[in-house]
Amino acid sequence: MTFHFTQPLSLTLGHLYPDQLNLYGDRGNIMTLQWRCQQRGIHLRVVGLGIGDALAPDEYDLLFIGGGQDREQAPVAQDLHDMKAIGLWAAIEDDMPVLAVCGGYQLLAHYYRPADGPDMHGLGVFDAWTIHKGAQTPRCIGDVALSWNGSTLVGFENHGGRTYLRTAKPLGRILKGFGNNAEDHTEGAIYRNAYGTYLHGSLLPKNPHFADHLLRLALQRKYGMQDTPLVLAESEPEKRNGRRHSRAALSTNTLDTALPSDTVAPLLAPLDDTLEWEAHAALLERLGLYTEATTILHRQQII
Ligand code: GLN
Repeated sequence: MTFHFTQPLSLTLGHLYPDQLNLYGDRGNIMTLQWRCQQRGIHLRVVGLGIGDALAPDEYDLLFIGGGQDREQAPVAQDLHDMKAIGLWAAIEDDMPVLAVCGGYQLLAHYYRPADGPDMHGLGVFDAWTIHKGAQTPRCIGDVALSWNGSTLVGFENHGGRTYLRTAKPLGRILKGFGNNAEDHTEGAIYRNAYGTYLHGSLLPKNPHFADHLLRLALQRKYGMQDTPLVLAESEPEKRNGRRHSRAALSTNTLDTALPSDTVAPLLAPLDDTLEWEAHAALLERLGLYTEATTILHRQQII
């Protein structure tokens, strides 16, 4: 099947509560999505959705919600119920990709019980709950690595709450670090295309495969396709702005006739992610996961 696009591909990302929930560089995740789209000629528009704003699901292709301290989470929990619940549920049931980090993740599950104060009721998207066991219980802080989809994810976590999954499927299994609760080796949760995780702002910068997974889900959902043929101007990557880019990534997504198979590219043209994978492997090494680090570097043909 041939797809006919005369316009460049475009996506709109709804960034929930950018002023309240933005810890440990959470916005780095959005910057990474923007960079990866830009390199491929895909237009990514980012729209902030604050307290009091309604969430119209038809206006977005992806959603992001970051982490925050307890005092910031409380008004957000209220607003999620008052202004966003119906739109957010509709989006998620319609398979919109959602990335929810730490405090945002906790509020997409059933409830967060802080060390002090009343429970914050969440939306129950993830069949899970979170309890902060008090100031004497150490926080879960540090670098973290988990298995995901036949590969690894790496990042940084810092949370007091412990999340327990009921029927929710975990994002992955902890290799090093704390994850959901420092007890059962699970990390994060998945419901349809919604992903909850404790990994903060370095998640998508250091995990290009996960960033592209989210973009691929968004493009597939919006354009209803598995693969977009892209015009390949040249097959060799070229040097540009100090980084190498596939020429396919720089071409316009315009195609009128079927091309021979060697001139079509996958839905997302590959980028040169050498730096990203080196950062990923460095973190694995720092955590003592030398075999995993070597596997990644071999797979990416870096060593
Ligand atoms: N306040 C929550 C906790 O400590 C979330 C923290 C965060 O988002 N980093 O568990």
